Amino acid sequence: MENVIIIGSGCAGWTAALYTARANLRPVVLTGAQPGGLLTTTSIVENYPGFPEGIDGTELMMRMQKQAERFGARTEYGALVTRVDFSQRPFRVWADDQLWESRTVIIASGASHRHLGLESEKLLEKKGVTYCATCDGALPMFRNQPLVVVGGGDSACEEATYLTRFASRVYLVHRRDQLRASKIMAERALSNPKIEPIWDSVVTEILDVKQDKVTGVRLRNVKTGAERELGCAGVFIAIGHVPNTTIFKGQIDLAEDGYIICRPGSTATSVPGVFAAGDCVDRTYRQAVTAAGSGCAAAIDAERYLSAQRA
Ligand code: NAP
Repeated sequence: MENVIIIGSGCAGWTAALYTARANLRPVVLTGAQPGGLLTTTSIVENYPGFPEGIDGTELMMRMQKQAERFGARTEYGALVTRVDFSQRPFRVWADDQLWESRTVIIASGASHRHLGLESEKLLEKKGVTYCATCDGALPMFRNQPLVVVGGGDSACEEATYLTRFASRVYLVHRRDQLRASKIMAERALSNPKIEPIWDSVVTEILDVKQDKVTGVRLRNVKTGAERELGCAGVFIAIGHVPNTTIFKGQIDLAEDGYIICRPGSTATSVPGVFAAGDCVDRTYRQAVTAAGSGCAAAIDAERYLSAQRA
């Protein structure tokens, strides 16, 4: 029987592991299929405090893991949780058909970037296709180059505005003729002389797989059906996120869009003893450092819960 099982191995998961390990709870981290989480899909992380030169996303995750393990955290590599039962105690978690039982669970399963679903998008990821302007926007390959941002929400507007610091021009490609973003963010983006909106358009292909780098996009106007090519050095896809919470449906309270609902000011879910942290809870900030902070909070909440149980 475990004290703490941590589901997920991104910033939130490793920080929860570090804190619960230092509280002598010997946590087990079930890493999931992508150890290190979303940050391992990016290149240099330049906005994580303490690394003035920036740090490779994968390396940052490996360092967090090492730090947690130094204090006794145990790692189950690749352990993908397929089912949970929080209706009884101890809680039950199945990963790769192995059953784990635990007094508490910290869910740090993260979120996935929504993808366009194009083959060329997959093949050119990290080669000019990215899902995070704050992580990748300042890379030399994007400097003084035309860039494309796909999406019409707050993220797309924020990313487009941010990218104007580096790009020669930013094309904001949206599938409708009206942004979904909040008024203030939309106005800020649309009034920026470096941003050119391209309405009613979808990206049908990212060019050029043969050259193994982004040289442009093929666009289709959804109203007229007209196709055209647009040159760019990078494609920033900002069409929303999908929290990785499907397996928790029916076990804890989830919002309509799948994000885990926690008690205000706490990491407690609707089931006492089950806590949640990071991108599976946070639809607003979604930064490595905010995820780490909430992982810390979940560890403290779990530790206090266990102490109260023992008293
Ligand atoms: P979002 O609001 O869900 O917007 C996603 C956008 O992507 C929409 O414009 C949508 O088009 C488009 N889209 C979705 N799937 C698409 C597809 N397959 N192909 C092309 N376009 C597609 O997501 P978000 O912008 O990431 O924002 C999420 C939440 O975080 C929101 O509540 C937002 O307010 C918040 N947020 C806040 C801030 C801030 O305040 N600083 C910054 C970022 C995000 P349609 O409009 O046609 O549906």
